[in-house]
Amino acid sequence: MRILIALGGNAIKQEKETGTKEEQIHNVDVTAQQIARILAADPTRQIVLTHGNGPQAGNLALQQDLGRTGGIPAQPWDIVGAMTQGQIGYMFQNRLQTRLAQLNIHTPCISLINQVLVDKNDRQFQGENASKPVGNFLSEEEAMQMRREKGWIVKCVKPSAAKPWRRVVPSPDPISNVEAETIRGLIERGVIVIASGGGGIPVISDEAGGFTGVEAVIDKDLAGQRLASAVGADVLMILTDVPAAIINYGKPNAQALGTVRLAEMEQYQREGHFAPGSMGPKVEACLRHVRATGHKAIITSLDKAVDALAGAAGTHIVA
Ligand code: ADP
Ligand code: MG
Repeated sequence: MRILIALGGNAIKQEKETGTKEEQIHNVDVTAQQIARILAADPTRQIVLTHGNGPQAGNLALQQDLGRTGGIPAQPWDIVGAMTQGQIGYMFQNRLQTRLAQLNIHTPCISLINQVLVDKNDRQFQGENASKPVGNFLSEEEAMQMRREKGWIVKCVKPSAAKPWRRVVPSPDPISNVEAETIRGLIERGVIVIASGGGGIPVISDEAGGFTGVEAVIDKDLAGQRLASAVGADVLMILTDVPAAIINYGKPNAQALGTVRLAEMEQYQREGHFAPGSMGPKVEACLRHVRATGHKAIITSLDKAVDALAGAAGTHIVA
């Protein structure tokens, strides 16, 4: 069985942490132990990993800004994405190798710099449609200055905050994984691959078949589904900080979902049970996976991953 695991930001940095190496290595190590347990439970399983990069990319973007005063040019968003793939990929590669070796599992493990194709005509690139907040919070004055000087799209995203503005970048729908063939080849050879980190580096294609990086951020769950499809994954498993998808979320009649058929989940989606930018893209990614493959998709928390694969926890979306 081939399993695509998509890891949320909390697998790398917890909400209240600043993001030191020690903190992040610790969190990645806890995650690596879970993944090692998944493999130990059934050594015929093949694993492909993807992960978010929100806090890391945010910090790195801030460093880019601070570096300007020392005359170091700030790197744009596609480069920042590539840098975080290296940073986070290294941590997972290192901890996974260690935890697997302790269980006497010697499956090789590699992380890749990985591009994801988007459409240059995606609505998110048009006008002020961009919707993904990135980087630090700004005062109105700072926001207007960045708009004037750099042409940033800025939006007032948290009206109650002292600094309510943030830069927003387009979040286009991923079309396909550019390095899909190479990744598939590695998996066929039994390698654990870490790819499409942070949703992948967004690129658009030119007439000659080449690619150009763009300033955008792709949702990691939607990009994870494209990777699942590229590698022929049986199961798409999205691990986050809640054990299940919930209907009537936050209300007295909230109800965690167990096994749900495709049509029923589509109905809940239409009724607006899954918030945009958080549970929404996870559910959409799962629906796409089940529609495309007829196989299963799972949403659960990191600590329930082993149980969920045994059918004993999480939300299971089936055909
Ligand atoms: P990740 O970093 O794993 O992508 P997100 O914060 O993007 O995590 O998404 C998980 C969050 O989605 C949960 O912590 C929860 O607050 C929120 N959420 C919104 N709607 C729902 C829902 N219907 N069911 C469960 N969680 C929901
Ligand atoms: Mg998310």
